Amino acid sequence: MAATATVERTEFGYTGVQPDADWREEVLALAAKRDAVILAHNYQLPEIQDIAHHTGDSLALSRIAAQSQASTIVFCGVHFMAETAKILSPDKTVLIPDARAGCSLADSITGAQLREWKAEHPGAVVVSYVNTTAEVKAETDICCTSSNAVDVVASIPADREVLFCPDQFLGAHVRRKTGRDNLHVWAGECHVHAGINGPELAGKAKANPDADLFIHPECGCATSALYLAGEGALPAEKVKILSTGDMLTAARDTNARQVLVATEVGMLHQLRRAAPEIDFQPVNDRASCRYMKMITPAALLRSLRENADEVHVDADTAARARKSVQRMIEIGQPGGAE
Ligand code: SF4
Repeated sequence: MAATATVERTEFGYTGVQPDADWREEVLALAAKRDAVILAHNYQLPEIQDIAHHTGDSLALSRIAAQSQASTIVFCGVHFMAETAKILSPDKTVLIPDARAGCSLADSITGAQLREWKAEHPGAVVVSYVNTTAEVKAETDICCTSSNAVDVVASIPADREVLFCPDQFLGAHVRRKTGRDNLHVWAGECHVHAGINGPELAGKAKANPDADLFIHPECGCATSALYLAGEGALPAEKVKILSTGDMLTAARDTNARQVLVATEVGMLHQLRRAAPEIDFQPVNDRASCRYMKMITPAALLRSLRENADEVHVDADTAARARKSVQRMIEIGQPGGAE
C-alpha cells in the first residue's frame, strides 16, 4: 500500500496528506476491510467527492445510508447530517471524519430554545428544516427540505399556527408562497449563505444578461432575487430557486451556456461534472463553508484507520426525531435537502 501519511490533528482540522500522495488506495482498502460505504455531501472538497461511493444532498445520502448493505457509514459532511443518517440507520455504525465539523445554521437553535418557543405558542405545529440537531428534530412535528417546505406547511390546517425554524430565508420564502400570516419564523441563518447578498447577485446578473441564475433558498439573496424578478430588475424566467439536488437536474435541462450559482462553492464541482459544456460561475466565490472543508483527505484516512469519530444519538431522541423525518418523507417529494 503506497500511502503512509502521518495524520496530525490541528485546531482547524486534520492535516498530513499531501495533495499528490496516494492516499486514495489506503482509503478504499480500509473501507472494504471495514465494510464501509463512503458518502460525500455536495459541498465537500472535490477530492472527497471524487473518492466517495456516493455524493448528494444530506437527505439523499441518509436514505442511501439506510438502504446500503454496508455495516459502517462514513459520512463526509457536517455533524447534523451524520446524525440524520444515524437516526435513519440506528443499527449501523456511523462515522464522521471530524466531529468538530458543525453548522452555523443548525447551531442557531437548541432543543431548549425550541421548547421555550413552543411554550409561547401552545398548539402550534413545529416545522424544522433538516439542518437541525437530533435534539431539535425530536421536538419537531414535521421536518422539511428546501424542495418540500412549501408542501409541508401547506399540508397543515390553515387555522393552526406554525413555528418554522431555523432558517429565516427559507421561512420567508415559505411564508410568501403559502400566504400564511400565522407562520412564525426563527431568525437563524447560515453564515455562508447569508453572505451571498442581493446587490452582489444583481450586479453579476447585469454583467451576464444571458446567464441562468441557480439560487439556493437559504441564500441571503434568494428573497431579493424573487423581489427583483417581481420588479422586473432580474428576468423572472432566469431566476431558479433550487435545492442542491434540483440544481443538478436543472443543469442537465437548461439551454443556457452560462449559469450563475448562489450557494456554497463546493456545489460547482458537481455541476461542472454534470454539464461540462456549461460555464458555471459562483455569485460569491468566497462562499465556502469552513465546516464542510474540515473533512480533509487526512481526516478521512484517520476515520477509517481509527474507526472514528463515531456518531451517537440516544435511543429516545432518535425515535422521536425519526417520526418527524418520516413525516417529511411522506409529504411531497423527499429530495432537496441542503
Ligand atoms: S454551508 Fe451553512 S448550512 Fe451548510 S453546513 Fe455550512 S454552515 Fe451549515
